[in-house]
Amino acid sequence: MTTLLDQLKTIVGAGAWKTDPAELQPRLTDWRGLVFGKTPILVMPKSRDEVSEVVRACVAAGVAIVPQGGNTGLCAGAVPGESGEQVLLSMEKMNRIRHVDASNFSMEVEAGCVLADIQRAARAVDRYFPLSLGAEGSCQIGGNLATNAGGVNVIRYGTARSLVLGLEVVLADGAVLEGLRSLRKDTAGYDLKQLFIGSEGTLGIITAATLRLFPDPGETATALLALSDSGDAVRLLARLRASLVDRIEAFELVSRPIFDLVEAHIPGARLPFDEAYPWYVLIETATGGDPELLENALSSAADKSLILDAAIAKNAKEAHNLWRLRHSIAEAERHDGTGLKHDISVPIGRMQEFLVRGEAQLARLMPEARLLVFGHVGDGNLHYNVALPQTSTPEALQEAGSRITAAIYDLVAEMGGSFSAEHGVGQSKRSYLEKYRAGAEINLMRRLKKALDPKNTLNPGKVI
Ligand code: FAD
Ligand code: ZN
Repeated sequence: MTTLLDQLKTIVGAGAWKTDPAELQPRLTDWRGLVFGKTPILVMPKSRDEVSEVVRACVAAGVAIVPQGGNTGLCAGAVPGESGEQVLLSMEKMNRIRHVDASNFSMEVEAGCVLADIQRAARAVDRYFPLSLGAEGSCQIGGNLATNAGGVNVIRYGTARSLVLGLEVVLADGAVLEGLRSLRKDTAGYDLKQLFIGSEGTLGIITAATLRLFPDPGETATALLALSDSGDAVRLLARLRASLVDRIEAFELVSRPIFDLVEAHIPGARLPFDEAYPWYVLIETATGGDPELLENALSSAADKSLILDAAIAKNAKEAHNLWRLRHSIAEAERHDGTGLKHDISVPIGRMQEFLVRGEAQLARLMPEARLLVFGHVGDGNLHYNVALPQTSTPEALQEAGSRITAAIYDLVAEMGGSFSAEHGVGQSKRSYLEKYRAGAEINLMRRLKKALDPKNTLNPGKVI
């Protein structure tokens, strides 16, 4: 190991490695502070050639590598195992926006670029990069692509997967897949980049990407709506889609107990209503030059009594405050403690059925447990979290938690859904992948892993 560490230090050079345990500590636990790992060294390569050399050295020494981006992932995929022998590789020094091509609506970036910097660089040339999520100030595009991140604009622009034109990847033998093309049409053989998107660092290390940009949506209108029933959110979305067509940029569902947490834990966060309602939707639309567009569409939906109350942002500051409520949810939940998190998806038309059946199921299993639900209605994706009463022993709570999670995932599977909609599998959900992706599907995943990473060098113990 000492020889390898010396080799790695020489490859990345002074100032680009760390071995001091105190400095490493924040990178050895996940964002929620639930999983802890160990590493002998953190390396921060500055180029794809250095990444490639690091990989070659580690393969030769039989030592595994854990790629890490902003470490905001919610399944502990970027945290090394407990052996203390896995090398941690951070992409933070590869953070250059190499080229923005406004006429081709594309942008070439290094994998360590922070998502918010990419959004800003697009805006600077009147273009729009739509990936947006609560962690955008610290997550990196490499991590976003490695987890195929979703976020709040999927309804209009798709997940991270659909925002990529080309990818550069260092493979498990150190070879480089040079795929930084910026084409919209390319049917030459297999679309290899898609293999690495969503593979959570287990098949290759993403070093750069060509991203797809969009026209700036221009003026947007934002409103917080109050509803009596989650099913009304699905019905409302269907109605608004008919009238607003593709102008809906975001349509986020939030249950009252979630906003209670936000108001309790986030300084200055206040809902713009005097009354409390059971459900809320945060909607954002492109106005297309018609400032009344959203208000008119909402008025006609209100006629059908789908909306109990509405607060339409009058200016950018009010819109920002509404979004702050939404983007603070993960932070508020973190303050609240260690509830059970489930990031599930079901077909959109079955969301309300899922919510009704899930609530009844939880009432049977543990009536004292509290549901904390929010999500992306247009994607059929719910963050279906459960707060357990802190009255039993930790062992009893863990046992109850496992039973509740198993019941939720079984219900999701029965309804044609997925136990992992946008956060990935990481360390936390591996056993569920084995359970719910059985047969030829999991076998093919195993064969792919073996073919692309025969020595199990890249992020072992994650996903599969
Ligand atoms: P990390 O956490 O560092 O890594 C995630 C995984 O990718 C790990 O397996 C790691 O090994 C791998 N990886 C990282 N970089 C590379 C690379 N260059 N090459 C290969 N593998 C790599 N997620 C959503 O999808 N939607 C949301 O709305 C959302 N909201 C969030 C809000 C908050 C407040 C927080 C904390 C998280 C949220 N997340 C959300 C989860 C998380 O932010 C995303 O998964 C994000 O995309 C992870 O990026 P990262 O750079 O932090 O990756
Ligand atoms: Zn989400």
